Amino acid sequence: MQTALADFIRDTPEGKEADAILRKCVHCGFCTATCPTYLLLGDENDGPRGRIYLVKELLEGAAVTEKTQLHLDRCLTCRACETTCPSGVRYGRLVDIGRGVVEAKTRRGALERASRALLAWGLPNTAVFTAALRVGQLFGVAPRTRPAKAWPAPRHRRKVLALAGCVQPALAPSINAAAARVLDRAGISLIEAQGAGCCGGIRFHLNYQEQGRDDMRALIDAWWPAVERGEVEAIVITASGCGVTVKEYGHLLAQDPAYRDKAARISAMTRDLCEVITPEMVAPSRDRGTVAFQSPCTLQHGQQLRGRVEALLAKAGYTPTPVNDAHLCCGSAGTYSLLQPEISAELRSRKLGALEAGRPNAIATANIGCMAHLQGGTTTPVRHWIELIDVK
Ligand code: SF4
Ligand code: SF4
Repeated sequence: MQTALADFIRDTPEGKEADAILRKCVHCGFCTATCPTYLLLGDENDGPRGRIYLVKELLEGAAVTEKTQLHLDRCLTCRACETTCPSGVRYGRLVDIGRGVVEAKTRRGALERASRALLAWGLPNTAVFTAALRVGQLFGVAPRTRPAKAWPAPRHRRKVLALAGCVQPALAPSINAAAARVLDRAGISLIEAQGAGCCGGIRFHLNYQEQGRDDMRALIDAWWPAVERGEVEAIVITASGCGVTVKEYGHLLAQDPAYRDKAARISAMTRDLCEVITPEMVAPSRDRGTVAFQSPCTLQHGQQLRGRVEALLAKAGYTPTPVNDAHLCCGSAGTYSLLQPEISAELRSRKLGALEAGRPNAIATANIGCMAHLQGGTTTPVRHWIELIDVK
């Protein structure tokens, strides 16, 4: 694609990156066929090719309108389009750059500004989120917390760092504890660092991009002593939505001379849990029932990890049920379910229809956001896959 970026961005790092991405797109439209919002809304501007064009226009200096913002807001950042694209267009980075420009050049309505500010303040703050969750639980409008079983004391020479995260400790402390037990049985201790909270993804994707980077720097600071001392061999993340963000720290902080080297090292050490748990670590069992696996977009598209969790569940004795359109987003997408509730609800209903078609005993997933979102629409238990494998 030919481009002629405007003066305000052409020579900036973002401008150069966006230009390189845009030039790779040959406008073939293959990506459109796998875009959840295009399939739902049928508007070219609600598909990747249309959005790429909108970003191109705004970077070339066209007026930024609320319509541009709406179509970019409606994108789930699921990155199914990246998996489909034969030209290797990194749509996710392009839309982040485009959104940053749109946010700087438009002003949202007062109510929208207030709700986004509230989410950006409350969600990454574990204490605030926990308090709000407890109030919601008191009135029966929030999901119950699944308590954690015992976390084994660190006793092995081999150690890996876990990310506690922001909402996961309040909603499902059971997940990291289950990971710690499975790893402990395999001779690896899972430890958490003091103060290691939000990965920065929430604020970054709410378009508080600099505040999101501040969260990333804070997390690097919390992890760095253990990394620098060589105490841990990897950073293990049980929420694929956080994992995809931490794996991009090296890129997202590349312009920060104080943090870029640390960020690159942290990213290089980061693994999704399914990259660390091998089939040999899973106790074989026969017939634990049927499971439908929902592979989060951040796992299958963002991290390009496919088939690993399914193999581990099979080793643990679960029979998979077929899931149609497994590449499509469930509608959770971070704060998307709160900011675009109609589209999100329709995507969840379609996803649950696909997941429950084979009448599974349980649904397994790999991300806390998808887990809470899906559980809100079904009575079938939705669990992180490590909790199913941890069952003795
Ligand atoms: S992003 Fe890829 S698949 Fe989509 S129109 Fe461009 S080149 Fe084609
Ligand atoms: S990231 Fe997902 S919703 Fe956004 S354009 Fe790509 S496929 Fe569509």
